[in-house]
Amino acid sequence: MADPKIRHMKWWGWGHEDVSFSDADKPKLWPYLSGELGLEQVEPTPPVKIDDVHLPAAKENAPFVAALRDALKEDQFSVDKKDRLIHAAGKAFRDLFRLRRGQVDFAPDLVVFPASEDDVVAIVKAAHEHNAVLIPFGGGSNIAGCIEPKDRDGRFIVSLDMCRMHRVLAVDKKSLLARIEAGVYGPHMEEQLEAEGVTLGHFPDSFVHSTLGGWVATRSAGMQSDKYGKIEDMVIALRMVTPSGTIVTRTVPNTSNGIDVRSLCVGSEGILGVITEVTVQVHRVPEYKMFEGWLFPDFESGIHAIHECMRHGTMPVITRLNDPGKTALSAAFKKVESPLKQKIGARDEVVPRQNQRH
Ligand SMILES: Cc1cc2nc3c(=O)[nH]c(=O)nc-3n(C[C@H](O)[C@H](O)[C@H](O)COP(=O)(O)OP(=O)(O)OC[C@H]3O[C@@H](n4cnc5c(N)ncnc54)[C@H](O)[C@@H]3O)c2cc1C
Repeated sequence: MADPKIRHMKWWGWGHEDVSFSDADKPKLWPYLSGELGLEQVEPTPPVKIDDVHLPAAKENAPFVAALRDALKEDQFSVDKKDRLIHAAGKAFRDLFRLRRGQVDFAPDLVVFPASEDDVVAIVKAAHEHNAVLIPFGGGSNIAGCIEPKDRDGRFIVSLDMCRMHRVLAVDKKSLLARIEAGVYGPHMEEQLEAEGVTLGHFPDSFVHSTLGGWVATRSAGMQSDKYGKIEDMVIALRMVTPSGTIVTRTVPNTSNGIDVRSLCVGSEGILGVITEVTVQVHRVPEYKMFEGWLFPDFESGIHAIHECMRHGTMPVITRLNDPGKTALSAAFKKVESPLKQKIGARDEVVPRQNQRH
C-alpha cells in the first residue's frame, strides 16, 4: 500500500514486516526465559514462506463484484493472496501460532477498501442484495477471533478494510470535540489531533496497530483510562452504516429519554453495521508530563500506595502495578547500558525511582 499512514501488520505476526525484535542487547532476557520455562537453547523457527501457505480457494459472487465495480475503483478490491492472509485472523497467541506454521483454515474471498462513507453504503447495499457476508476490519489486532466467521456455510465472505478512511475531519476547540473517520490508526490520529493541540487520551497497548473504529466496536480500554475513561466514555456520537440505513446519533453529551442507540453501537463488534465516523471528546495536550517508577517491597504495599493516591484525590493518569513475576520479566528486558551510564552509576538493581520530565 503506497500511503505510509496505511501500513498493515505482517500476515504471520505482530508488527510491521520491516521491524524485528532482537535480544542481542538484552543479555538477561534469554537466561530469564529459559530458566522460568525450563527451556534449553532453542533455534528460532521462522514462519513458513507465503508461497507454502495453502489458502482455501476464493469463492465467487459475480453479481456482488459487478455491483462493486459500478461503485468503486479497481484498486479498491483485492483477491491477492497476501491481502487475503492479512485479513484472515487476529493477533491472539493461537492466531500467531497457527499462521507462522501456515495453518490457515479461513480467508475472506475478497478484501474491499472503501475510501468514504458513500463507498461503505454501496458495499453494504451490494452485500445485502447479493448475499455476501461483510466483516469490518480495522487494524486486525483483536485477540478474540472476531474477524473469522463462525459459520462457514458457503456464503461469499468479504473483509471490509477501513484503512483508507483515516482523516480527522474537524476539531471544535471550544467544545473539545473531534469528528474522525473510523479507519484511522492510533498514531496517525494523534498526530492529526496534536496539530490542533488536543489528544484523545486513548492508548491501548495495541495503539500503533489498531483503529478508532476497532476501539469503538470492541469497547476498548486504554492505558490512561483512569483519567480519560474507556472508549465508551469518549464517544459523543457516531455514524454506522447498516443494511437498513445509516444510524446517525446526535452530538450531545447525554440524553435522558429513550433508548441509547449510541451505546448499542459501541461494542457491537461489526455485527450491526460499519462504523464510519466517530465524534469524540478530546482534551488539551498536557503542557507537562512526568513519569515515575517505584519499586515496592511486595504487591500488597503497591496496592496500599494506590489506595492512598485514590483517597487523597491524587491519582496519576496511568498507574500500573506489576507482580513480582512481571517485574522480573521487565528487568530481564533491560538493555546493556552504555559504558558512560555504567560509570555514572551502576544503580540498576536498586534504583527505586526514575523521573523523566518533558
Ligand atoms: C499486543 C496486543 C495488545 C492489546 N492491548 C489492548 C489494550 O490495551 N486494550 C484493549 O482494549 N484491547 C487491546 N488489545 C485488543 C485489540 O487491540 C482491541 O480489541 C482493538 O480495539 C481492536 O482494534 P482494531 O482496529 O485492530 O480492530 P479489528 O481487530 O480489526 O476488529 C475488531 C472487531 O471490531 C470490528 N470492527 C473493526 N472496525 C470496525 C468498524 N469501523 N465498524 C464496525 N466494526 C468494526 C471487527 O469486525 C471486529 O469484530 C490488544 C491486542 C494485542 C494483540
